[in-house]
This record gives sequence, C-alpha cells and structure tokens, in this order.
Amino acid sequence: MAVSAAAGAHTRVAAVIGSPVRHSLSPAMHNAAFRELGLDWIYVAFEVPQGSVAAALAGARALGMGGLSVTIPHKAAALAAVDEATPTATAVGAVNTVVPRSDGSLLGDNTDGAGFLASLAEEGFDPSGRMCAVLGAGGAARAVVHALAGAGAVEVVVVNRTPGRGEAAAALAGAVGRVGTAADLERVDLVVNATPVGLAGSEADATPVDLRLLGPGQLVVDLVPNPAVTTLMRGARERGAGVAGGLGMLVHQGATAFELWTGRPAPIGVMRAAAALALG
Ligand code: NAP
Repeated sequence: MAVSAAAGAHTRVAAVIGSPVRHSLSPAMHNAAFRELGLDWIYVAFEVPQGSVAAALAGARALGMGGLSVTIPHKAAALAAVDEATPTATAVGAVNTVVPRSDGSLLGDNTDGAGFLASLAEEGFDPSGRMCAVLGAGGAARAVVHALAGAGAVEVVVVNRTPGRGEAAAALAGAVGRVGTAADLERVDLVVNATPVGLAGSEADATPVDLRLLGPGQLVVDLVPNPAVTTLMRGARERGAGVAGGLGMLVHQGATAFELWTGRPAPIGVMRAAAALALG
C-alpha cells in the first residue's frame, strides 16, 4: 500500500483508538488526506479494550504520536485521561480528538458538534432561529444538542428511551433545551437521529420514529453512517422531507481533527471520497 511503503524514520503516526475499531473509515479518510497534501504521516487503528484509555494515551505521549481520534467506547474516559480539555469537550463530557502539544501534553477536544454543523451548512440548513429535535442522548446526541444551541436554535428537544439521560443531554442546550416525546417531531424544522437504530446489521430495516410524523419543510439527518441511505432517510424522503446521512458529519469532524494535528487545511473532497469508497 502506498502509505506504508512511504513510511520511514521521520513518519508521524496518528491513530484511532476504539473497540471495535476494525470497521473504522477514519484510516482511509486520513491517509488519503496525508497523501493528497504530500505529508509524511500515517494513520492506523488500534483496538484498545475498555479500561485501557489512560494507558493508550500514556503510550501516545511517550511515542510522540501526531494525533489520536477516540471512538466508542472511550470518549468519556478519554476526557479524564487527557492533560487538558477544551470547553467544548468538557461541556459535552467526551473527547473525540486528542491533540499533542509541543510540551508533550495532550489536549482533548470534541469536533463532533462542529463537524455536524459543517454538514448542516452543506445542506443549506442554518439552525439559527429554528426548532430542532434530537433522537438519542449518547455521545453523538450530546455533541449535536450542544452545537445546535450554540448555533442559535430556539428549541432543542431531546427524545430518548431513557428519560434521565435525555434530561442530561437536554441540559446541554441550556434555556432552549428540553426533553420531549415523538409527538414533538411533527412541528420541528430539523430531526436528527443520534441513536444506532437503522445501523447496518440485524436491525437495518428499523426506524427510530414513526415516519408519519415527518414531512415537507423538514430536514431529517440520520447520523448512522452505514448504510449510506437508511430506512429513516428513505421514508422521510418519500414523505417530502429533505434528508441527509451521517457521512457529512464523519468527514467534517475528521477534517477538523486533521487541521488541529497538521496545521494544514483539510482536503475535504478527498476525505469524503475516501470515506465513501471505504463505506462501499
Ligand atoms: P451511544 O453513546 O451508545 O448512545 C446511543 C443512544 O441511542 C442512547 O441515548 C440510547 O438510548 C439510544 N438507543 C440505543 N439503542 C436504541 C434503541 N434500540 N431504541 C431507541 N434508542 C436507542 O452512541 P453514540 O456514540 O451517541 O452513537 C449513536 C449513533 O450515532 C450511532 O449510530 C453512531 O454510529 C452514530 N455516530 C455518527 C457519527 C458521525 O460522524 N456520523 C459520529 C458519532 C456517532 P438510552 O440512553 O436509552 O440507552
């Protein structure tokens, strides 16, 4: 493979840590970006078991790695293991990007929310003054809720299976956040699926909501990255709503991380094409 053949004594190493991590699209996406800019970097995936995040970060520190992405199930534990965290990572309670600093310390950031907003902008949707609903209250939902409120949404309704987690996520939107029910979906401008319902696998045909609640004038974003068109997206489109998938957020959160690590503008188009190709 071109990247490993070029790797040598000066190559900077970046990686994603997670479990499971072998399905990750991030290596394809970042290695394509390094190649495009002619950077002597390589990006790999490390399967890190639960409970080993602090050890993994100590290793990254000792090895002088160029950057880390953090994925399921380590995002919350990584917040405790970095030397310092950005206000966004602290508020969301999760780190998805680790940036090594010149003094050897590790800064924890969270680029999921910024990546989500960038993907919304590509769809021509500005959350300012709009009513939004987020399905789910896990790591992705928390980043999205926080970002939507920061972008000026007038209402961010969290609809979640477990009410307590829903309340904690809604609180991230401050005065405009609240817990709601499926009935709220009918009157909002934006619906975001931040649950894994619809993910490729045994429940790929499932939808997280009754499709009859969706319709014209709404944008429905399914963060599930695989399949590229979910049952929710297909159904919402048939009912006249605008739809978008999870690839945009994935690419943009990665692009922001790439820029933090390398100090270079990310080649977004190249990263998107590589991620889409890896997705199959
Ligand atoms: P997570 O932390 O495990 O949270 C999952 C949330 O979904 C929880 O609130 C959970 O509810 C809810 N949920 C799970 N199964 C459900 C079911 N069968 N019915 C109803 N609700 C259910 O996961 P996450 O990291 O936030 O990821 C969520 C989704 O976003 C995944 O599909 C992931 O692939 C996707 N994602 C995409 C991107 C991207 O860049 N496109 C980035 C991050 C995540 P409870 O609170 O009741 O358990």
